[in-house]
Amino acid sequence: MKIALLLACIGFSACAIAQVPAGGYVVADGDFADAQSAQWQRGEQRQATENIAALRQQHFLAMPKAQAAVADLAWPLQPVPDFDQFDYHGTKYFVDHGPPYPGIVEDYTCGTRTYNLANGYSHAGTDYYLWPFAWLMMDQGQVRIVAAASGVIADKDDGNFDRDCDIASTTNPNFVRVLQDDGYSAIYLHMREGSVTALPIGSRVATGDYLGLVGSSGSSSGPHLHFELRDANGAVVDPRHGQCNAGPDRWIVFQAYEDPHIDTLSTHSAEPDQSVCGYVGGKNVDDTPNYKSVFAPGDTLWVLASYRDQRNGEVTNFSILRPDGSVFAQWDFDLASENEPLPFYSGTAWDWKYTLPADAPVGDWQFKAVFVGLTYARAFTVAASAVDLGAASAARVQVGANATRCRSADGRTPPGCP
Ligand SMILES: [Zn+2]
Repeated sequence: MKIALLLACIGFSACAIAQVPAGGYVVADGDFADAQSAQWQRGEQRQATENIAALRQQHFLAMPKAQAAVADLAWPLQPVPDFDQFDYHGTKYFVDHGPPYPGIVEDYTCGTRTYNLANGYSHAGTDYYLWPFAWLMMDQGQVRIVAAASGVIADKDDGNFDRDCDIASTTNPNFVRVLQDDGYSAIYLHMREGSVTALPIGSRVATGDYLGLVGSSGSSSGPHLHFELRDANGAVVDPRHGQCNAGPDRWIVFQAYEDPHIDTLSTHSAEPDQSVCGYVGGKNVDDTPNYKSVFAPGDTLWVLASYRDQRNGEVTNFSILRPDGSVFAQWDFDLASENEPLPFYSGTAWDWKYTLPADAPVGDWQFKAVFVGLTYARAFTVAASAVDLGAASAARVQVGANATRCRSADGRTPPGCP
């Protein structure tokens, strides 16, 4: 957590200088990583093979076609229907195409966004993690894992502890393996305990069907999906094409190696806090975002922007606009100003603090950002009285506030709520 060094633009009608965040987070090396043991992998593979053989014997499963076409892959994550932010994830590690440890690591572009370990593990999938407030998003079940291609459930497990924060963990993951119609198999790892589909092994799933929720079960350092594809012989297939992977790109919607976006813009009553681990000292620990969307004049206003793939030199133009569109505050921000050890991070989040003046106009304000050619905006409300606060809080829904979306600040049930 960084200390506020400079809080500019407070009380000025408009200013545009580079402003240092009051606090920030970067997704560091080792965050959202995994290394399911070779022993677990062998055991699971054996189990899946036995399951498939049994299903075939019972004629539940057709033999694979001799030369089935390789299925294209659909995006394997899906937020809940009322999810109201721009995005919910970052992409951390890709398949390692380099020689085993201590060899160099090479992702599909010959870059280093992958890893191998001294125990012989080379990362064999792609890691998509929840971002920001990963533990809270996991606890609220905000992101579902869905089948990237149709097939049959060949193996699955549930009931395993799901708040692991260490890739050295030897607990088993909650997971689903789908034997795809093209003969490949896809494994979806680290699901939340109790979330794995109730469909029995042998059930058909279509592309987009629910498989489970993102969690952190098994060898996992944070809530993420490890998506791993293997061919009919069990060899790892990287569904991304690049200089270090001759295989074709298999995603229906191309995923860029670096995809700079703002995931979320949000407003808060106090500085948001993210937990590195969701389980400390034998207790569940959660993120404390301190979300707030309705403020009174004179209140402290915290704003937070979270990014997927942020690089030094990419400038964001932030502004806070009053209800009439006039500028309350405006500033530029570049990751380079933070002097972080690396010029690029797959996930970052930064917050700034303001004090709303005593004569702040009531109405809908905007927290706005322009980043890499896209404009993002989040509305918040300044209301004069408690009655207005209640009505307005029902109209403003923030991520993470689903449980209280129909409860006003004064406890009344606003119109339109059950
Ligand atoms: Zn992984």
